[in-house]
Amino acid sequence: MKIRFLGAHNTETNTSGLMCLLIDERVALDAGSMTSRMPLAAQLAIKAVLVTHPHYDHIRDVPMLTMNCFLNGGKVHTYGSQAVKDALSGQILNGKIYSNFFARPVMDFHIVEPNTPFSVDKYQVLPVNVNHSVPANGYQVTLDGRSFFYTGDTGPGLEKCWGHISPELLIIEVTASNRFTDFGRDSKHLTPQLLKEELSAFRDIRGYIPKVVTVHMNPSLEDEIAIELKEVAAAIKCNISLGYEGLELEC
Ligand SMILES: [Zn+2]
Ligand SMILES: [Zn+2]
Repeated sequence: MKIRFLGAHNTETNTSGLMCLLIDERVALDAGSMTSRMPLAAQLAIKAVLVTHPHYDHIRDVPMLTMNCFLNGGKVHTYGSQAVKDALSGQILNGKIYSNFFARPVMDFHIVEPNTPFSVDKYQVLPVNVNHSVPANGYQVTLDGRSFFYTGDTGPGLEKCWGHISPELLIIEVTASNRFTDFGRDSKHLTPQLLKEELSAFRDIRGYIPKVVTVHMNPSLEDEIAIELKEVAAAIKCNISLGYEGLELEC
């Protein structure tokens, strides 16, 4: 699988984008900075959008993708929890803020349940509950025996989640630097210190630590986060790098 990072941050500027990963140019994980970074033909070629949770920075471009598909005879196959469906249908695509696409064939929404695997295109997908301030699922995506897991937004306390997955690559949020660790615990986000605890738990449960790529960094804190992640990688002897817009990874 080729994973292309369209957005890898928690805010948008001219140099940072909201969370959106594209697998083999076919399946999107979260829909933050998506349509602004894809030509129309590429948007129409997307087979599915898997959404982790209903926060704005993760669903933002679903409405625009849906409009583009509507105007060009396409269909948007969106996967997410009931909470994601409720947010999109009730708050945005409700006929007031934007068109009621849920009443039209262009929007094909599939509700996912944690720990219930399904197939999308040629991929096996397993949604697994993570610990965020609203209902949230990470996704393990598998093709030809190779897997990666994308957490979406999560705070600490992932032991249960680790019991369900065994990826070669872990794409995990680290929103803030260590001086915000109390904020991270409260608002359910990770810092390098909290990531270290979660990766140590992963090793206790699974016996290894996968290659780690962090996402959802606050751009203003990124330099600090990078220094602290180096210390974590050295301390627990694993491979950690920061994701960025334009990064392409093979898994
Ligand atoms: Zn977010
Ligand atoms: Zn969130």
